[in-house]
Amino acid sequence: MKYQVVILGGGESGTGSAILAHRQGYRTLLSDSGTLKPPYRQMLADRRIDCEEGRHTAAAILQADEIIKSPGIPDNAPIVADAIRKGIPVVSEIEFAARFTSARTICVTGSNGKTTTASLIHSMLTNGGVNAGLCGNIGSSFALQVAEGEPHDWYVLELSSFQLDNMYRFRADIAVLLNITPDHLDRYNYELERYARSKFRIVQNMTEGGTFIYCADDPLTMQYLPHYSIAARTAPFAMLMPAPTESGSGCAFIHNNTLTAMYNNDNNADTFQHKIDELLLKGRHNQYNSMAASLASLAAGISKTAIRDSLRRFQSVEHRLEPVMSVRGILFINDSKATNVNSTWYALDSMTAPVIWIAGGTDKGNDYSALADLVRSKVKAIVCLGSDNARIHEAFSSIVPVIVETQSAAAAVQAAYHLGSRGDVALLSPACASFDLFQNYEDRGRQFKEAVRSL
Ligand code: ADP
Repeated sequence: MKYQVVILGGGESGTGSAILAHRQGYRTLLSDSGTLKPPYRQMLADRRIDCEEGRHTAAAILQADEIIKSPGIPDNAPIVADAIRKGIPVVSEIEFAARFTSARTICVTGSNGKTTTASLIHSMLTNGGVNAGLCGNIGSSFALQVAEGEPHDWYVLELSSFQLDNMYRFRADIAVLLNITPDHLDRYNYELERYARSKFRIVQNMTEGGTFIYCADDPLTMQYLPHYSIAARTAPFAMLMPAPTESGSGCAFIHNNTLTAMYNNDNNADTFQHKIDELLLKGRHNQYNSMAASLASLAAGISKTAIRDSLRRFQSVEHRLEPVMSVRGILFINDSKATNVNSTWYALDSMTAPVIWIAGGTDKGNDYSALADLVRSKVKAIVCLGSDNARIHEAFSSIVPVIVETQSAAAAVQAAYHLGSRGDVALLSPACASFDLFQNYEDRGRQFKEAVRSL
């Protein structure tokens, strides 16, 4: 049988894509070189969608009219390389799913802060009475929501660079680029420029009606911005008021401890202000996220009351600077999602008490020097949580008097508990991926929280 659409990879994104393609009447095959997780296998079986596991049958795949590739599969995987060589279009789930909905989109990308900002925007939209969906790395896939979810007027989409890489015709109505800091460089031939270009794909095809929101304090964003001619209106955010730009429709900044966001929506100028102390999300990075989210919501026409309400009530997303509990006066914080140096920088920056820092894991070629000053001034002990912690010792043994080794979340929590005293913070913010000792960052965060609760 000739399949019209073949989906490579059967995780959340691939399974959703297969369900949508099948529903749209395409002869569909899902192919996964590993084993499918039972819930996904079941979802495909329930809908009688053809799938194969443990192999990629080239004869079937290379006959397809189009291939939808899951973001986890790199372009140089042999089957993908063969498809590209044969001229078969290879697209991402988002590119495919967007064809089948007329809902408007707010797309959020960046190296850090995507989930937090996308969730915050979604909260603002929902508070403002808008029927909005939230997809990306959160909850069910965009494709599945388009196929079987309730219809939405807006979608807030969290887009990784891997999703963006295979997007060509897709057009965002509102695009947010939070920051660009080195991450995942292994997938970009270790070229920062390639990674940055992939993030900037978020502005492709945007029209005058759209709005592009970006961080004017981010050096790499500002370095690459002049390379693009962007038809959309622009709205930068920065700690100090950014210089107005020609196509500028607004901006956000912080002055007198007040977040100010201004947006000019078709002759209807709106200025929004909110005291920093009244933000529930703490830390400088979350001030950036809050500015970005406020601008996106103003651009979408959301009321200031709804925006304010969300800023006041929005709790951190799980595993992102999530306060767990205080034990004997030591506050344990779960920031397991900090899988790179930049996000840990913001975590340490936002700490106001002495820190027992739990760090380590799979090192993606980290340069720890950026953390040295913060560690010197805030960290009293380091608890390494990884199978190989040599690089952490190397970077910090001359600045931090106590560095201990642990190989499990429970041991790390015990060590932090014994090293800490009343008023300290025990912060899990690893700056590394989790795959050496855990299934993923969620598993690491959950094990950490369980260990804290059973102290
Ligand atoms: P993403 O979805 O991009 O991975 P998250 O919102 O899940 O982002 O946050 C990931 C990590 O980065 C967390 O440790 C969080 O505290 C930190 N973080 C959040 N926003 C920012 C930001 N704007 N800049 C740097 N780090 C951030």
